[in-house]
Amino acid sequence: MKRNIWGSRDARIPIAAVLLGLTCLVYGCGTAPVRQQSRVDTAMGTIVTQTLYVRGGSGTVYENGESEAATDAESIFIMQLLEELEGRELSWRAEGSEVAEINAGAGGEVHVVPSSSLREILGQIWQISADSDGALDVTLGRLSRLWNMDELAAEGGQMSVPSIEQVRSALEDTGYERARFSGDALILPAGMQLDLGAVGKGIACDRVSAYLHSQPQITGAVVAVGGSVVTYGQKPDGSPWKVAIIHPREEGSYLGVLSLTGEQYVSTSGDYERYVTVDGVRYHHILDPATGYPARSGLCSVTIVCDGGLTADALSTACFVLGPERGIALAENYGAEALLVSEDGALHMTEGMKKIFSVGE
Ligand code: ADP
Ligand code: MG
Repeated sequence: MKRNIWGSRDARIPIAAVLLGLTCLVYGCGTAPVRQQSRVDTAMGTIVTQTLYVRGGSGTVYENGESEAATDAESIFIMQLLEELEGRELSWRAEGSEVAEINAGAGGEVHVVPSSSLREILGQIWQISADSDGALDVTLGRLSRLWNMDELAAEGGQMSVPSIEQVRSALEDTGYERARFSGDALILPAGMQLDLGAVGKGIACDRVSAYLHSQPQITGAVVAVGGSVVTYGQKPDGSPWKVAIIHPREEGSYLGVLSLTGEQYVSTSGDYERYVTVDGVRYHHILDPATGYPARSGLCSVTIVCDGGLTADALSTACFVLGPERGIALAENYGAEALLVSEDGALHMTEGMKKIFSVGE
């Protein structure tokens, strides 16, 4: 018996796809105009700026004058992605998030099997903690809550510096090397609290990147989640992506500009982001896990450029704690480029950074 492939339900979809492909070849889908979509929103407690270059689809103005309404669908999807990442996985504040649930059990020893995505994240973090001699330590939740810098700085609030006893007591509940992984399970000693604030925005950039890769109509993008940025693809004119680095001591001005091509991840950590000054001393939000106090490494800003969002964010925090020499060594160990700014204004750069960073501009 002859089979009528036109009647076969299964065959219809591939045939339709082939026909669509042919239509595109004839009418030149690949050359549909590229539209710029720009948005500024807030998520993860910070400002999110997006510039996406999208070929065809919503907002396109065709040569014959016809146009489609701009829906910014891709940018809106990215915002949902970030809200879900924060609310369902990473936030210690959002009730019901995975991290908040783990912390809620800290009255006794915690024995949990994290989701596979959180396991992968924790695996990467623990590796960087080990490689940085503990300069990055996401088990310092009790300490960061004691200092409470995020809220104080946001409110311009008055701060009473915690006592030495309070700091010592909070320190006792920290230490990434005291957490254990057993098979798929994570075991935390009683009292330990996780705070993924040092890596959250970088993880967000990794998620954004995965989405961008899944959308062939997006030909280029630069998305900044606070101080963490991902660049992707190309600008329509082929020129490099420009990422400005904030001047750590001159409010409203820039230290310089990075020129980047293709997919790159940038993260900056600085003592100017969230801080409170008491009796002339600047208490900022990057803590030294060895002392329990805001890091005093002589640095005021660290920028990392590398091939992953989590890595860039984790390294920027860790290098800030380690100071110029050990910071540069850690970045080089990860094949990352680093720009470290000392409080006296001196710039310390890896060799590759010197090629992509220009002062001023
Ligand atoms: P931001 O979140 O402003 O971009 P960072 O990426 O440097 O800055 O992360 C700082 C946040 O990470 C702090 O607000 C605190 O919650 C947490 N944190 C502070 N110091 C450390 C540290 N040494 N290791 C891990 N997390 C830290
Ligand atoms: Mg960081």
